[in-house]
Amino acid sequence: MTGTRVKTPKTSTTRSIPARALQASRADVFTESVIREMTRLALKHGAVNLAQGFPDFPCPEELKTAACEAVNADVNQYAITWGSKELREEIAKRVKTYNGMDFHPETGITVTCGSTEAMLASLLAVISPGEEVIVPEPFYENYGPDTVLSGAVPHYVSLADDFSINEEAWKNAFSRTTKAIILNTPNNPTGKVFSKKELSFIADLCVDHNVIAITDEIYEHILYDGRKHVSIGSLDGMQDRTITIGSFSKTYSVTGWRVGYTLADPDLTARIRKIHDFLTVGAPAPLQQACAAALRLPESYYKELAAEYDRKRKILYKGLRDAGFACELPQGAYYIFTDIAGFEKNDVEFARHLIETAGVAAVPGSSFYHEGGETKLRFTFSKRDETLEEACRRMKQLA
Ligand code: PLP
Repeated sequence: MTGTRVKTPKTSTTRSIPARALQASRADVFTESVIREMTRLALKHGAVNLAQGFPDFPCPEELKTAACEAVNADVNQYAITWGSKELREEIAKRVKTYNGMDFHPETGITVTCGSTEAMLASLLAVISPGEEVIVPEPFYENYGPDTVLSGAVPHYVSLADDFSINEEAWKNAFSRTTKAIILNTPNNPTGKVFSKKELSFIADLCVDHNVIAITDEIYEHILYDGRKHVSIGSLDGMQDRTITIGSFSKTYSVTGWRVGYTLADPDLTARIRKIHDFLTVGAPAPLQQACAAALRLPESYYKELAAEYDRKRKILYKGLRDAGFACELPQGAYYIFTDIAGFEKNDVEFARHLIETAGVAAVPGSSFYHEGGETKLRFTFSKRDETLEEACRRMKQLA
């Protein structure tokens, strides 16, 4: 087991190469997802799974009821490829009030199979093979394979030690060959919430260099200590050069439903829709109806969600500190990115040791870097309080 890596393709083999290779080389250049692998290992060893970011508590009743009603009402055939009208209209309303952005449901919103598909469809829509995409590091592990699948050349830019934007590094990263940047705020794995000042700095670079921002804002409602979410697409000059990606997975605790969306100007949207159509035809129809119901939940839902996660982050933070991990409280999202330098094992050895001896699963830090990350481990706190307390009890023996 190693961190998910984009690898150099093999160029020689001891056996003769068949006249027509049976495998595509693009599948050789990255490994399977380490996050999902850790989930399988956790199941095998009966470990508490703090690896993969999904809740072990139920989603809101209103969503379950709406999903059942949709199935019973026979909303069981393909929805419109770019998403049901009702859902696109609800997304447009929410995005206007929460993100401060105006997108017309007919021309600016595309419902996708989660933000996973949204990111890949966006890259496929805007990147021609060989064009460069800036990726801040550490990054959500999917972005590595996404660049390979879309033919992009990733240019990794390290975040500062406190995970803020290192202005000099960003200025140097932008060049004539830069086509797009990938952003993620609130951030997985670091928990960093980029400030308006940081995002304005990046926005100015995008405008000056005629670059597209693709921004994954899946944790936009999970913020702590009074922080505010800023969408880079709402900043001056960015409306027409930003693809904003949202999802229902984390905000409504329905990661298995696979419903997300893109917001982009009509020209970009038309391209994304073409790619989306031939990748998936569309997102699950009855669940789109239930997601429209989710968007009608009262404002208090979002406050309670953040308050619940605030409590959970403090339970895990204390447990990790008590067990000897060096870590900080995250500013947003639902992960704690720890430093394991004190444990004298690299991330992969330590992750395995943690599963097999303590019975707790986490993700090796190298999954979030193209190089490095061996002194890091990521834990999620998207779990019931009892689950977190049990994990903390098990990890105490490490100290
Ligand atoms: N983007 C980020 C930053 C994530 O952390 C995750 C899941 O953990 C995803 C995307 C996947 O989202 P979805 O379930 O909407 O495909």
